[in-house]
Amino acid sequence: MDFDFILTTDRTMMTNHHGKEFLGFMTTSPAVGLPERLWMWLCAPKMKTDKAGRVWQAPYGLRKIEAALIDAGFKAAVVDPSELKKYSKSVKAILIGHHDFFAFCAPSSTWWVITGKEPVNRKYFMKLMESPAIREAKKRGAKLIVGGPAAWQWLHMTEYWTKWGVDTVVDGEAEKVIVDLAQRIIEGRTLPKYVYVGPQEAPSIEEIPIIKHASVNGLVEIMRGCPRGCKFCSVTLRPLRYIPLDVIEKEISVNVREGVRYGLLHSEDVLIYGANGVHPRPKPLFKLHEITLKYYRAIAWSHSSLSAIVCAEREHKLVSKLTEYIFSKTGQKFLGLQTGIETGSPRLAKEIMSAKAAPYKVEEWPDIVEEAFAIMHDNMIIPAATLILNVPNETTDDIIKTAELLERLKPYRSLIVPMYFVPLGVLKDQSLQIRIKPEHVDIMWLCLEHAFRWVPVISKMYLEGPFYFPLRVLIDAFLWWVRRQAEALKPKLKAYIEKLAEESRKWEPSSALVQEAEIGSATKP
Ligand code: SF4
Repeated sequence: MDFDFILTTDRTMMTNHHGKEFLGFMTTSPAVGLPERLWMWLCAPKMKTDKAGRVWQAPYGLRKIEAALIDAGFKAAVVDPSELKKYSKSVKAILIGHHDFFAFCAPSSTWWVITGKEPVNRKYFMKLMESPAIREAKKRGAKLIVGGPAAWQWLHMTEYWTKWGVDTVVDGEAEKVIVDLAQRIIEGRTLPKYVYVGPQEAPSIEEIPIIKHASVNGLVEIMRGCPRGCKFCSVTLRPLRYIPLDVIEKEISVNVREGVRYGLLHSEDVLIYGANGVHPRPKPLFKLHEITLKYYRAIAWSHSSLSAIVCAEREHKLVSKLTEYIFSKTGQKFLGLQTGIETGSPRLAKEIMSAKAAPYKVEEWPDIVEEAFAIMHDNMIIPAATLILNVPNETTDDIIKTAELLERLKPYRSLIVPMYFVPLGVLKDQSLQIRIKPEHVDIMWLCLEHAFRWVPVISKMYLEGPFYFPLRVLIDAFLWWVRRQAEALKPKLKAYIEKLAEESRKWEPSSALVQEAEIGSATKP
């Protein structure tokens, strides 16, 4: 088969993590306590392919770009990184998407800081870029385009931009601009070095194409953008759009047709799908789940805000009713999601995420968090929650407040992951410097203790059945090893973190290339 445009990514992204999305967290860390090959087998097994090297399931973002190109009449396909050599002699462009090219995002950066070792997502991305297939295609004159949520990282890594000969970096929603870039490639016209797709240029609902093939773990998007306006978040810069139910149904059907019988509803805040402002409404949510459960045998929600959980339950008992409905239809026993606590300090919350608690007052944030955790615990929802350390202007008192909140969250079944601040959203001009404070150790330690308490319980529920038995044994052995290591290290940890604090590296964008880059839509001169 012949394709002009090949879309791909590295092994840590081109995988379905054995159908267990949570295992994807392991791809953000270096291999710890296990040989790397075993670590990679655990969290990033190779995706099934056809004879042409096309993958069975691909990351949703790549599927969207593939669909945009196919709809515009181009020959495009998503191919496994191990199969790229099939196309290195003929392809006109290789398009690479990633969530975290250089491991600057959370939690990769946190694991990197703690272990001092390069996370596997960065390592395998580097391997991909250095692979003979990409080098040969590049030497022959094929174009290299990179993009995805982590596109901003290239502004901090311009030496690799130049070294690998990346022709264009696309930052933002790419479904429209990619068609223009593809046309330029076919016609042999020059490409812009950098394309920023701002809110004005983001595709409307009608311009977002429907995926043509299965997405990883049946992920389908139900909404884009988020109205809460947290200062550290890039999602909030995008316009809010609800994907219509008929489009969602078509994408679910694509997955089911290709053999993916379970799925993930993707939104920054699932419970505000079709909401009245930030007040969840039962009707659109039940309609959404009725349609989804006509096709999928099991589902998860990608994200929900903690305030939407509290509001849905207080106003309509909606979390109880929805989970009861989902569990009765599917037979599943729990529902997973990601959420953000970020801080336990009302002062800091007011400064960086004043609408995160809406419709409630931001001063009530720690109480909202605890109430949401209690609701989720009672309704068998298992959250993987994030905390952000090192936010600009963070004080010792803010960190103490976060530690106090963590104490309150001990009884609730969950994972809590601390992450170092990354300059995104309104704060994107802040320096990408990790200033590690000794008080952060207390937070990390509390999160680790929380994990020791809850991971064995969660992994037993999550990896049920004989098929997952070897995985469960490995995870239990790994936890035992981490616990032993951590207890031995604890007395030295503060001194170690103080040393790291001194060594904190500073990455600054190279102004030369940024100034040269074209900012704006690809259609601008
Ligand atoms: S609630 Fe989440 S997605 Fe929305 S702006 Fe805040 S951090 Fe971003």
